[in-house]
Amino acid sequence: MRILFFLLLTVFNAVMLHWFREDPGWRLLEPYVWETDAFREMKLGTEVLGTDYETLAALMLKNDFDLTALSREEIPGDESFLSGLISGLLPWKETAFYKLADAYKTVLTDLKYFPVPSSCRSDTPDVTYEDSWQQARTYGGERGHEGCDIMGMERGRGFYPVISASDGVVEKKGWLEQGGWRLGIRSPSGAYLYYAHLYSYAEGIEEGASVRAGQLLGFMGDSGYGKEENTVGNFAVHLHFGIYVKTEHFDELSVNPYWILKGLENNRLVFDF
Ligand SMILES: [Zn+2]
Repeated sequence: MRILFFLLLTVFNAVMLHWFREDPGWRLLEPYVWETDAFREMKLGTEVLGTDYETLAALMLKNDFDLTALSREEIPGDESFLSGLISGLLPWKETAFYKLADAYKTVLTDLKYFPVPSSCRSDTPDVTYEDSWQQARTYGGERGHEGCDIMGMERGRGFYPVISASDGVVEKKGWLEQGGWRLGIRSPSGAYLYYAHLYSYAEGIEEGASVRAGQLLGFMGDSGYGKEENTVGNFAVHLHFGIYVKTEHFDELSVNPYWILKGLENNRLVFDF
């Protein structure tokens, strides 16, 4: 009995010692952390895009999954930061860490261009957008907004070009009651990019076709929110841009595109419109 007691005490002490020595941020590293709301919010801020995905995952863990206040000086420049953190991790935590880094890679690695080019004409108003992640939407039942709306209401439907943010293959094309005329493009790393409420499709955009980042997909519109094909006018002209990934428990898990779009603003093509 006494031996058993001491044995249990030793195990308990070892666990507690590990717990106290561990960096606090790593306690957020739970199994399937890439399926949590904190991951899906993608609070990347504007400084981390271009950072390698392992550093990004570590920064997220250390900053409670919110990098919006991070300054460039807080991004570590060398590998010792990572190796110092990873050494001493329990094996399952190390696996979870690399899977988290991989999840960020799947979401981010193929995205190259902001999906609406800017205009070379000074009298063309630019599009606007804000973070509306999980805001209430009511058409088709109560739900949270799973994307970002890029508004182009200062011009009529069919004015703003919509381009592919990534390379990929057109997986879905056609009418959806909520999404109107939509496109779903699968990027090489497996992210599903969703472009909804289009006015029209560009030539050659068909299911199965390969597209390149920056290629014209169609034009922005206000189609959707109707069972009838070609229902328009139920909301302001905009592009709904969505990003989905496949995980262990979800075929389509949406993540917030807002901060990604903020980053892609540095990478805009210029068209004449
Ligand atoms: Zn939307």
